Amino acid sequence: MSGRHDRHLALPGFGAAQLGRLRAASALVVGAGGLGAPVLTYLAAAGVGRLVIVDDDVVEEANLSRQVLFAADAGGRSKAAAAAERVRALNPAVEARAVAARLGADNVAALVAVADVVVDCSDNPPTRYRLNRAALAAGRPLVWGAIAQFCGRCAVTPAGRGPCWECLFGPQEQLSGWPTAAADGVFGPVCGVVGAWAAAETVKVITGLGDPLVSRMLLVDALTGETLVIPVQADPDCPACGRR
Ligand SMILES: [Zn+2]
Repeated sequence: MSGRHDRHLALPGFGAAQLGRLRAASALVVGAGGLGAPVLTYLAAAGVGRLVIVDDDVVEEANLSRQVLFAADAGGRSKAAAAAERVRALNPAVEARAVAARLGADNVAALVAVADVVVDCSDNPPTRYRLNRAALAAGRPLVWGAIAQFCGRCAVTPAGRGPCWECLFGPQEQLSGWPTAAADGVFGPVCGVVGAWAAAETVKVITGLGDPLVSRMLLVDALTGETLVIPVQADPDCPACGRR
């Protein structure tokens, strides 16, 4: 008899222990949009035991070119609720919890505390900085992806130390010209590429397989077809993870 996980279990280094870790794991996925769609799809398919999906937005037709979790008639529904429903349909063994609320100072610590790994699929700086600090404070690894037009990035912040988002992008007050999907556009497939990569990093973090993108950052340019992995360093003066 064949099972869902047979092709994973055939992989070198992927055994019953790795599958057990996935089944026992809880992942907090913030953002059920263009990045969240492939992340949730692959984490559900891989059998991550519990997915907590945070998004305060509703499904809009103008976003369906990249938010491939949602059916054409899902317009107006809570993205978190529709995504959780899709996850359950993909793999009923996964417990999916929808949190249809904005990630804020009031709920971030509690949500991060019950997660084994945090995945940042959000689209705005305040959420990214908040989640980065909360994950560091709670000692949880953080996988993040980010998209701008045809380009994307992905990296992993290890539990409780840098390099972190704030090491790489500086203080939130100094961040300027952050692109938005509505104003600047976003190329759907690049969300799939970067989201799938973030899902792979998340599975690696949970199972211990391979080398996560720690102290390195993936850069993808879908227009030129080029990818690059560059080294990144922790900033000792980083207010989020620095020693001072
Ligand atoms: Zn830092």
